[in-house]
Amino acid sequence: MEVTSIQNGIIIDHVPAGTALKVLAYLKINPAKTKLALIMNTDSHLYGTKDIIKIEDEDGNGPSVDLDVLGLVARTATVGIVRGGRIVEKKTPTLPEHVVNILTCRNPRCVTTTERGIEQMFHLTHSERQEYRCDYCDEEAKL
Ligand SMILES: [Zn+2]
Repeated sequence: MEVTSIQNGIIIDHVPAGTALKVLAYLKINPAKTKLALIMNTDSHLYGTKDIIKIEDEDGNGPSVDLDVLGLVARTATVGIVRGGRIVEKKTPTLPEHVVNILTCRNPRCVTTTERGIEQMFHLTHSERQEYRCDYCDEEAKL
């Protein structure tokens, strides 16, 4: 097991280069209020360059990362759970079939844009291309 620079927390590795801040925003992790380290554009054996997010979590309960959301923004990422300076568990993101209130429809004529209080719902239409479309108007989602 590899030794890391944090004692307890999580390491999100293999984040696409340059996207760490976007990933944090989607995961609703506030960089101003969280003990974390970002390593951006570092060398990756698999993808050329990558970002790494390390989140310290002193009480050991673990900051929870929504693997569905992570799958949407960083399909290639891996999540390592760190306890006592070692990665004790690894998780991989999932690609959800259906997402609610994470993506926003960009179609100005969509009912979710013109009316208030309607949930933003998208469904997976192509898993390889990672394509999501709006449940209401079929507009493709853009991350
Ligand atoms: Zn729509």
